[in-house]
Amino acid sequence: MDFPVGSPAAPVTKEELGRATWTFLHTLAALYPENPTRQQKKDVKELMAILSRIYPCKDCADHFKEVLRANPVQAGSHYEFSQWLCHVHNVVNRSLGKLVFPCERVDARWGKLDCEQRACDLQGATNFWE
Ligand SMILES: Cc1cc2nc3c(=O)[nH]c(=O)nc-3n(C[C@H](O)[C@H](O)[C@H](O)COP(=O)(O)OP(=O)(O)OC[C@H]3O[C@@H](n4cnc5c(N)ncnc54)[C@H](O)[C@@H]3O)c2cc1C
Repeated sequence: MDFPVGSPAAPVTKEELGRATWTFLHTLAALYPENPTRQQKKDVKELMAILSRIYPCKDCADHFKEVLRANPVQAGSHYEFSQWLCHVHNVVNRSLGKLVFPCERVDARWGKLDCEQRACDLQGATNFWE
């Protein structure tokens, strides 16, 4: 749908925001290294804590705080972090009456970035995930 120049953007629904955020988080987990550094472990733990404070849907943020309290972040390896994330996503799914996702299939559902010439493949760059 087109909006005239200067008109406010269409509001984002809670569902769209959720799907976009889960895409971000599961992609992050797919790229999370097998042997993370102390800094990488600290960063993902902080990211989750920050998300639970500033997620732009207050009810969701409040609920996620409780989810995190009951399920502290596990980020010791790629497997640990991607399974933990799958588990907490399922906690949210259950609370919304949605189907539970089979976590043994999380690596098949979420993968690396599809990017031309791997230009956005963070693993090859001088950055956080190197
Ligand atoms: C941190 C957080 C907290 C939220 N809290 C609330 C809340 O309290 N109330 C509310 O109404 N909404 C909340 N949401 C939004 C909600 O989780 C959904 O994103 C939204 O309802 C859209 O759901 P969906 O069915 O399209 O799929 P989503 O749940 O958005 O999932 C997107 C895709 O991820 C895959 N998937 C599903 N489950 C898993 C899993 N366990 N592991 C890996 N992949 C999976 C599926 O392929 C699915 O199509 C929250 C979102 C986030 C990110």
